[in-house]
Amino acid sequence: MSLAFDGLPPLREVLAEHGLDPKRSLGQNFLLDLNLTGKIARQALPLAGHAVIEVGPGPGGLTRALLAEGADDLTVIEKDERTLPALEAIAARYPGRLRVLHADALTVDPAELARGKPVKIVANLPYNVGTQLLTNWVASPSWPPPWVQAVLMFQREVAERIVARPGTDHYGRLGVLCGWRTRARILFDVPPQAFTPPPKVTSSIVDLRPIEAPLSADLATLERVTQAAFGQRRKMLRQSLKALGGEALLERVGIDPQRRAETLDVSEFVALANAL
Ligand code: SAM
Repeated sequence: MSLAFDGLPPLREVLAEHGLDPKRSLGQNFLLDLNLTGKIARQALPLAGHAVIEVGPGPGGLTRALLAEGADDLTVIEKDERTLPALEAIAARYPGRLRVLHADALTVDPAELARGKPVKIVANLPYNVGTQLLTNWVASPSWPPPWVQAVLMFQREVAERIVARPGTDHYGRLGVLCGWRTRARILFDVPPQAFTPPPKVTSSIVDLRPIEAPLSADLATLERVTQAAFGQRRKMLRQSLKALGGEALLERVGIDPQRRAETLDVSEFVALANAL
């Protein structure tokens, strides 16, 4: 058996050895190309000195790249217990640098893993829970959060919603939330054939950095406004925001009641939330 650059077996052999047939229910589309996982890991440099968190390591391709690129305090959170022996073999290759957590990432607060260090989150997220995880991290009750950077893989369509600007089709609740609290940008696309098995759509890597002091607003109220406004995105705001005060509310903050949700920028949504 020929070994990879890190002295561990090639990922295809890891899948075969541990019987890791990809499960659709867990969003398992694995990256087996260590050049590509290296490229993703390098987007989060420097890694040393940070508490690095990877959600969904699977057979460990990105995990190995993060360690090779210098992560010295890496916690991986994986739901599928079949992957644990492969992950423990990586931990043995990098003593003291990798902790394997067998858990549902939706139940883990990144702050619990910080141990006094700035956190970086790097992940090829499972598509079925990726948006929920991101929303949890960005809608955290305390801000700024413990993480200073997140480098995350999403389906291209979700990535476009995260970075969307007003006046575009993809602009909606996720774009307002992420635009309010983070600076988000798409770094590069990853084609379906890079994965095993290939998903139906193109994926994108997104880089998010928290804005230390975003415009002041109550999170729950802001979400009430965006939910109402984008719930009826083709209607004029005087109609979609009727239950929240409609025309009177809009006039109070100087927004034309005939406008539609997708034309409002983040500061206008914040103004509406603050007026409520
Ligand atoms: N990081 C690996 C890679 O790039 O090849 C695997 C990525 S795969 C898209 C998603 C991984 O997330 C799978 O290993 C899956 O078992 C795991 N996963 C799915 N749901 C999860 C959850 N709620 N919490 C933690 N891990 C989860």
